[in-house]
Amino acid sequence: MKDPIVFKEPIGGPFAPPQGNKKILGPLQRLQTRMQRFADHEVVDYCIVGLGAGGGVLLQRLAKAGFRVVGLDAGPFWDSERDWVSDEKGSHKLYWNDLRITGGEDPLTFGENNSGKGVGGSTVHWAAFAPRFHPSDFRVRTEDGVAADWPISYWDLKPYYELLEREIPVAGPAYFPWGDPHGYPYGPHPMGGVGNVLMKGCTKLGIGVCAGGPVAINSGSRGDRPHCIYRGFCIQGCKVGAKASTLITHIPEAIRYGAEVRELSMAFRISMRNPRWTDGVFYYDRDGREHFQRAKAVIIAAYSVETPRLLLNSACPGHERGLANASGTVGRFLMAQAGNVLLGRFAEPIRMYKAPPAHAMSEHFYETDPKRDFVRGFAIQTVGPLPIAFARQMIKAKDAWGWGMRRVMMDYNHWAALGVLGEILPWPDNRITLAEEKDQYGIPVAKAHFTLHENDKRLTRFAVEKVKEVLYAAGAEEVVEESRYAHLVGAARMGHDPAESVVDRFGRTHEVHNLFIADGSVLPTQGSANPGLTIMCLAARTADYLIAQGTRIFDSEKRDWTPPPIRKDLAVKGAFTTGIPRLF
Ligand SMILES: Cc1cc2nc3c(=O)[nH]c(=O)nc-3n(C[C@H](O)[C@H](O)[C@H](O)COP(=O)(O)OP(=O)(O)OC[C@H]3O[C@@H](n4cnc5c(N)ncnc54)[C@H](O)[C@@H]3O)c2cc1C
Ligand code: SF4
Repeated sequence: MKDPIVFKEPIGGPFAPPQGNKKILGPLQRLQTRMQRFADHEVVDYCIVGLGAGGGVLLQRLAKAGFRVVGLDAGPFWDSERDWVSDEKGSHKLYWNDLRITGGEDPLTFGENNSGKGVGGSTVHWAAFAPRFHPSDFRVRTEDGVAADWPISYWDLKPYYELLEREIPVAGPAYFPWGDPHGYPYGPHPMGGVGNVLMKGCTKLGIGVCAGGPVAINSGSRGDRPHCIYRGFCIQGCKVGAKASTLITHIPEAIRYGAEVRELSMAFRISMRNPRWTDGVFYYDRDGREHFQRAKAVIIAAYSVETPRLLLNSACPGHERGLANASGTVGRFLMAQAGNVLLGRFAEPIRMYKAPPAHAMSEHFYETDPKRDFVRGFAIQTVGPLPIAFARQMIKAKDAWGWGMRRVMMDYNHWAALGVLGEILPWPDNRITLAEEKDQYGIPVAKAHFTLHENDKRLTRFAVEKVKEVLYAAGAEEVVEESRYAHLVGAARMGHDPAESVVDRFGRTHEVHNLFIADGSVLPTQGSANPGLTIMCLAARTADYLIAQGTRIFDSEKRDWTPPPIRKDLAVKGAFTTGIPRLF
């Protein structure tokens, strides 16, 4: 018998760490340009706090339009080649793990299923489902008599949906039937095991279902970015670069056009030169040293927890209750979506890790149905938990522990997970305030109070039962549930009335002329669509407004309500290349 071949070292040679611990920016991120550096004492045009979904898009647009822009982010400038690993545990550093306090009757959980920390923000570990909001989402008060209407309509945002869907880009079907029906420029993804379960269950029950998207993951290679290889590490950052995040879609172009990205820079106070005008941002650098970046205007895009926290921590004479908070609205109307996960056990293997978690969905139950005992609705979406997340779900759902846990983990390949995405309404008492506790910089941390109201509970119960039906219709032998939330938005909402909102329809705070908010906090309601795409669209619209207003923003108290022209020419390069050929 022949001796087995023994490999003494890996094919291709031994592994070596990057030399001198330098950044080795991988092929996706490597830039030919040196990054612009501004000194703190230089007065830049815009200082943006937070470079996630909203901040990343704004940084790119403003830099491309010729403004001098600095973006501060509390987290690192990720080098996807060096810093990210295709490993569930090794990816926990992507989350905002700093202290946050949570309370109320139905408290939120922070950490992994929440915001991110680092350039790209939460889009680094989002699943990338990218549906649009429905026209009804902008008129909830008018149509359902609850919550609030937006100061803009779906039709104001529609051109931005069409633009951003090409920029990041979104893959999906040629015809998406819900809300304002539309098609996607890039073709849908093939189905994974969980998607097949959703298709089978919905089809049996006569529930409409959409296969292969809409999701901001490349279904074919495009420009510098490769196509998806279906290995399921999307929530761990996607080392491949097939999944969109502003870190790889917008930040590189922002730098090419002269923006500075300042990593590990934690803003702790917005500075005011008088009660109506800001003149910059105080922040701590990586070594805890205090700095002050001067700016003609400031944009906060730090997520629905950190944005109100920063405003509240910036209380000063003339803004004793917190900046831009004369109405007492800052921090209020915080929303999360009901994100309950239903797990079904099937006789045949499902292998839910073998696909992007986000690849099929139904918005069949999205709109208010007068036959039900609640208003608004929910979506059903595929979820693909990796083993650690699955183990946690099994602890909660089945009290699995010890040998029982080992047994259930050996069965992992037979389980499919479907998620509810349900609309929880905005309530004034669901809010962010400041806690007595302080973080590593000595800054008071955010405290979230969250309690479900009757409509929220009824909607969630109905949705959970419906998803159970889908799983059983698909052939599940057993179904268990994990209750949880998804996607925080609100807490600095937009509106016409300064007595009930924090920013106007363009994201400008009612009380400070040169202070803007451009992240998920400005959403007055949330629908049951994932919010990332809408946040990017709102940021692109705010950018168009700022660009159209030019230097008036920096010194004029007059507010111009003229809608800005849509600057398609500022879209990221390659947005209008042809997608995969398809027949409509
Ligand atoms: C696991 C998971 C899956 C998700 N999946 C989806 C999905 O499939 N589809 C979808 O649409 N949405 C999804 N989301 C939600 C989506 O990612 C967020 O709604 C969106 O990114 C929020 O955008 P933002 O601009 O408000 O904030 P973020 O994108 O979170 O950006 C905020 C940035 O601000 C920085 N920051 C905060 N405070 C400070 C400060 N004081 N100084 C400096 N910087 C600061 C942070 O480091 C961060 O980079 C998911 C979220 C999670 C956690
Ligand atoms: S499944 Fe696709 S998008 Fe997700 S991590 Fe893998 S390559 Fe990236």
